[in-house]
Amino acid sequence: MKALRFEDNKLNLADVAIPRRDGEALVRTTVAGICSTDVEIARGYADFRGTLGHEFVGVVEESPDGSQIGRRVVGEINAGCGQCDHCRENDPRHCPDRTALGIRGRDGAFAEYLSLPPRNLLIVPDGVSDRQAVFTEPLAAALEILDQVEIRASHRVAVVGDGKLGQLISRVIARTGCDLTLIGKHDAKLELAARAGVKTAKLCSDDFSRHVMTEVVATKARGFDFVVEASGSSGGIELALDLIRPRGAIILKSTFRGAVRFDASRIVVNEVSVIGSRCGRFESALRLLESGEVDVESLVAREYRLADGVEAMAEARRPGTLKVLLTN
Ligand SMILES: [Zn+2]
Ligand SMILES: [Zn+2]
Repeated sequence: MKALRFEDNKLNLADVAIPRRDGEALVRTTVAGICSTDVEIARGYADFRGTLGHEFVGVVEESPDGSQIGRRVVGEINAGCGQCDHCRENDPRHCPDRTALGIRGRDGAFAEYLSLPPRNLLIVPDGVSDRQAVFTEPLAAALEILDQVEIRASHRVAVVGDGKLGQLISRVIARTGCDLTLIGKHDAKLELAARAGVKTAKLCSDDFSRHVMTEVVATKARGFDFVVEASGSSGGIELALDLIRPRGAIILKSTFRGAVRFDASRIVVNEVSVIGSRCGRFESALRLLESGEVDVESLVAREYRLADGVEAMAEARRPGTLKVLLTN
């Protein structure tokens, strides 16, 4: 089968064997989504070598669980060892020996087929299209924030970063009824969020440094109760520290390839909580997609065939590009 792989420090479309792992299901990939994490991996983040991709929807061709065969599925990307304390507490996402689809020790979804344990797979409801279902993983990552902090209607919340993840996070957080502002630097993307009913503010400069905001300045006096950092830029953390009120909480969503510099004493002096946030649970994401209450399809920038995967990655890498999809 064809697979888009990162090896020897470069991306290439390779012919490889169909992945078959003992006790696992074989899924024929229909649509896969390129995520900033994939772009970072292709720059060396996570030291991964192999087939990229973790956002997908597909059809089960083989599975030890016969009820899955022929069904349309999405899949939790982390596969735990099944033995450790985390796995026993139903949290394979933090298993120290986990593999993660296309990220850690396991070939990913930018291929004609992928392999995952049957328990990782969730059936996609009929009312959810492939183009919607492929957003399950990033939408779950956005919903994870609401599992970690309780955002109420009375709260003032800022999301820093108007890219793919910031867009999804804003749409999810807006449903709490809080006073939400999405802060970004791209007119078209801020407009997209505004069309989804999200209040936006534009950074004047090209870098996420302080003193460059226009509309946010007024609200800065009191500070935000929560700031979600999803800019993918290390300056986003400094901006979050500018915006947060004393005793507020900053939720970090961006993963970076290297170390990030920021002034940690600002966290101490203002008694700010800093919360790392990664993957979320898929069930709630699928339910939200089925409800139709969150529009995801407007985030699709372009679709490519898997055969044009290298070109698709180049497009996804371009600053400001929204979701690039790969189809089989
Ligand atoms: Zn992703
Ligand atoms: Zn484990």
